[in-house]
Amino acid sequence: MSELDRRSLLKMGAAAIAGTVIGNGITLYSASAHAGEEQNASADTALEIPPKGKARWGMVIDNNKCTAQCTACTAACRTENNVPAFGDERYDGHWIRKVTLTPERGGPEKHLPLLCNHCEQPPCQHVCPVAATFTRHDGIVMIDKHRCIGCRYCMIACPYKARTFVFKETTEWTNRDVPKRSHGVVEKCTFCAHRIDQGKIPACVEACDKSGERAMIFGDLNNPESAIVKYIRAVATKGVREDLGLEPKVFYTGI
Ligand code: SF4
Ligand code: SF4
Repeated sequence: MSELDRRSLLKMGAAAIAGTVIGNGITLYSASAHAGEEQNASADTALEIPPKGKARWGMVIDNNKCTAQCTACTAACRTENNVPAFGDERYDGHWIRKVTLTPERGGPEKHLPLLCNHCEQPPCQHVCPVAATFTRHDGIVMIDKHRCIGCRYCMIACPYKARTFVFKETTEWTNRDVPKRSHGVVEKCTFCAHRIDQGKIPACVEACDKSGERAMIFGDLNNPESAIVKYIRAVATKGVREDLGLEPKVFYTGI
């Protein structure tokens, strides 16, 4: 897929209009209904193993399939990435969390997973004074914890509140595939980059599939044949605060 095509894809649904307030003061902006002739495309490909190479990773979350009480994705993320829940909001980190969506025009509340959107234009990266935040060749926004000085500028810059500061060191180190958390730095979702590099999909997506919800699709936005591209082309999607022009790579339906 050409750069132009990719950007067009990422901007699908960009005719933002209806604002919807979700938890923590974040507003969701409606994307245009680009639903084409493939409206019935299925999200039944959540376990697609993305190919290595010149990928641009992205995610779709179908909130029609995401039930309020399910926490499979958040639990799996904690286990996979050594992100503990101390039971104290002062210390708990959240790489992915369920937030409540309250439609401005009424209607039932919805609960959707919110994580780092791995923005194509990431303000968190631009404000970092020591270049600790960087974007990988495949579009994943990462933090070099050895460079991070804990100034937290990036936390202020992120409109998705996707970053958390490690106020309390973790004693457990359940998954040795990822670094142990360390006190005094900022952390966030990595799209499970360590798993992607092994040809696996993110832990949250795998857990969602195993739970039976099958609400998440992960794949290569540069591959026109990938399930995620076919899905986005076929089904109307929305991004959180698309109006900011950050080009998030997490897309939602059913919200
Ligand atoms: S969602 Fe926030 S932390 Fe993630 S890339 Fe965008 S601005 Fe940075
Ligand atoms: S907290 Fe760390 S990653 Fe964030 S802006 Fe400061 S040095 Fe960069």
